Formats: sequence, C-alpha cells, structure tokens
Amino acid sequence: PKRHHRPRIFLPHLVASMEEVEQTYIMIKPDGVQRGLVGEIISKFERKGFKLTGLKLFQCPKELAEEHYKDLQSKPFFPKLIDYITSGPVVCMGWEGVGVVASARKLIGATNPLNAEPGTIRGDLAVQTGRNVVHGSDSPDNGKHEIALWFKEDELCAWAAVQEPWLME
Ligand code: ADP
Repeated sequence: PKRHHRPRIFLPHLVASMEEVEQTYIMIKPDGVQRGLVGEIISKFERKGFKLTGLKLFQCPKELAEEHYKDLQSKPFFPKLIDYITSGPVVCMGWEGVGVVASARKLIGATNPLNAEPGTIRGDLAVQTGRNVVHGSDSPDNGKHEIALWFKEDELCAWAAVQEPWLME
C-alpha cells in the first residue's frame, strides 16, 4: 500500500505571548453547588477553550469571604452577602487564557440575573442578585489577586493543553 504523507502533528507550544494570557478567579457560589449546577458551569468555561489551573470544593471561612468582598463592606447587603457565601461549600476555580477575564464576565452575565442575557449563566440559571450562582474577577489584576487569595501555590497547576494550537493560531 502507498505510504501516506506524515500527518502534521502539533506539539504543545506557547501560542499566545505571556502578556496576553490572563488569569481569572471563578467561583460557583453555594446556591450553584446546592442546585447541582457545578458540571454545567464548569463546562461553559471548558468548552469555550479556557484552561483550568485550579479547582476545589471548599467551605469558605467568614474571614476569607469578608476579605474577598471587602470593597463592598459599606453596602447594606454586606452581612447577607457574607452569610450567603459561607452558607455551604463553593467551587473555587482558576481559569487562564487570552482575554479570559472579560470573556468570563460575559459568559456569567449581569450581576442582577433578571438583567442578564439569555445564554449567560446568570441569564439562564438565576433570578436574584443575592443568589446569582457564580463569581468572576472584574480585572486581570483582581484575577491574579483573587487566585492568590483563594488558592495555595501548590493547589495550582501550570500545564500545556494539547488543544491549544486548535484554539489559537
Ligand atoms: P459581580 O459579582 O457581578 O461582580 P458586584 O461586585 O457588584 O457584582 O457584587 C458582588 C456580589 O455581591 C454580587 O455578585 C451579589 O452576589 C452581591 N450583591 C451585589 N449587589 C447586591 C444587592 N443589591 N443585594 C444583594 N446582593 C448583592
């Protein structure tokens, strides 16, 4: 039989320059865990093409919730927010990719789920701001900061995804 040409095999390599690659902290809040939405939410980010760098189910202590939301300390809903976030386990995730911070916020949808577009996580799966299922960092700096806040260094993995050359040219 005639020999076929060797297929071109892509080896994992860095396709995006390091400056372009961002990190974001995504968290499935206790309502998302209780409602059995963990798999569906992880799938959204995975199928979009982002890379998971950290993942754990975690009962958040009050102090950490207060630190994470410290910018909202003066808001009237702050105590309720801390009760909500600490009311059951959350799923903590680090996601990496080009433009991942803004893209994840789009996938998540508006803070008030009633204003969130259909197709977004909050648009499809939630109704109230106080039960809006998921958190996503609002800037690349906060992404790095929040990942460092929620994860220990040895809980994070730097790895090459074999699909990378099929996602980015
Ligand atoms: P986002 O999570 O979309 O970045 P914010 O940073 O404004 O939104 O608020 C953080 C979280 O605080 C929200 O996701 C929501 O869980 C809670 N929150 C914000 N505003 C309210 C509100 N008016 N009532 C109750 N909870 C709120």
